[in-house]
Amino acid sequence: MSRILIRAPRLFDGISRTLRERAFVIIDGERIAALGEQRELGGSEHFEQVIDLAPDTTLLPGLINMHTHLSFSSSDSVFADALAESDVHKMIRIAENLRTTLATGVTTVRDCGTWPHLLLPVRDAVAAGSMAGPRIVVSGAITITGGHCWFCATEADSEAEIRKAVRAHVKRGVDFIKLFATGGNTTPGSNALATQYSAIEMCAATEEARRAGRRTASHAHAVDGVRTSIAARVTTIEHCSFQTEAGIGWNEDLVSEILDAGIYVCHTVFRGPTKLDRDALPAAEQELLDRRARSIGQRLQLTRRLADKGVKLIAGNDAGVSHVNFADFPGDLVLAATGCSIAPVDVLVSATGEAAQALGRDDIGAIAAGRMADLLVVRGDPLSDIRAITQPERVIARGLPAAGPGAALNVLAT
Ligand SMILES: [Zn+2]
Repeated sequence: MSRILIRAPRLFDGISRTLRERAFVIIDGERIAALGEQRELGGSEHFEQVIDLAPDTTLLPGLINMHTHLSFSSSDSVFADALAESDVHKMIRIAENLRTTLATGVTTVRDCGTWPHLLLPVRDAVAAGSMAGPRIVVSGAITITGGHCWFCATEADSEAEIRKAVRAHVKRGVDFIKLFATGGNTTPGSNALATQYSAIEMCAATEEARRAGRRTASHAHAVDGVRTSIAARVTTIEHCSFQTEAGIGWNEDLVSEILDAGIYVCHTVFRGPTKLDRDALPAAEQELLDRRARSIGQRLQLTRRLADKGVKLIAGNDAGVSHVNFADFPGDLVLAATGCSIAPVDVLVSATGEAAQALGRDDIGAIAAGRMADLLVVRGDPLSDIRAITQPERVIARGLPAAGPGAALNVLAT
């Protein structure tokens, strides 16, 4: 096994909220063997490679994007594209998205809706080292017949069907179960303001998942969908919008219940269409953009309030949905800090150590002895200026150069 020494001017470990100065990390194969202060280093040990990081750089754990859709087109017409495209087309997009993701410093994605028959072989190919990409945590999604995201989920309409759907997903080999507790905004005929399942049905799903040792994520916009998700003790609530006719809202009692239950909330903050040049758009599209910008503003406020209450936040940007590309995640973390007034260190923890906890994994998400050597080097100090997170210099995935110097694929050039 090759031992590599990295000497870093600054290091953020993903768990403790401070920055180490003049740190070292020793990588042994795919794992981190040790870390400490450079003055502790003896001169006798031989390393296959010594990497001295540039003076104005910071070493941190590879990022975890907790909410993606790897096969989605990111276009205005995600739903129509998903119906029209062949599996081959989707597989090519998945490969492209994985390459882009890795280049931005994301070394793990939790995918919240891509057909398992497409993603499971890719997950396994990446794990086996035969395909470049971040580690993929694959969902098996469940929705009602014709419900939100029916085109990439198993349709189940009763407690018995839900139990069977969970069991079938587990049999296929998925890593967790994604439940569509409410409708959503992108599937025609779906209603984000209505629940799709009763509390009893949601509980049946989480009971089956727990029996199989699988965690659960629940997509919930409408207030009642948040309520049934809490009742079912899902692991994470996605969006958690408390949505009514008036838009994204708030419910003090349910937030207290989320806290008491220790449920994580994946905030799905993204810039989306607000990245577009508004003035260059036709009037009708400007109106649409303004509506979506208002909704994004409401989401930023919601996320701010959840953070104030101490809810365990995890970062995911719904990459793959309209106007959210796989290169966007670091920039969307910047928005989570600047738009929600959340301290950069808390944003970074939500995309590293806390995210790993939500996945139930103590082998990723931090720079610590025994963890996977998933590392990101950025120019600048992201704890004092979060924008540094958008300046990747080097990405290491499971001990191997994945982007930047030494990478077999020069993915940063794309
Ligand atoms: Zn999603």
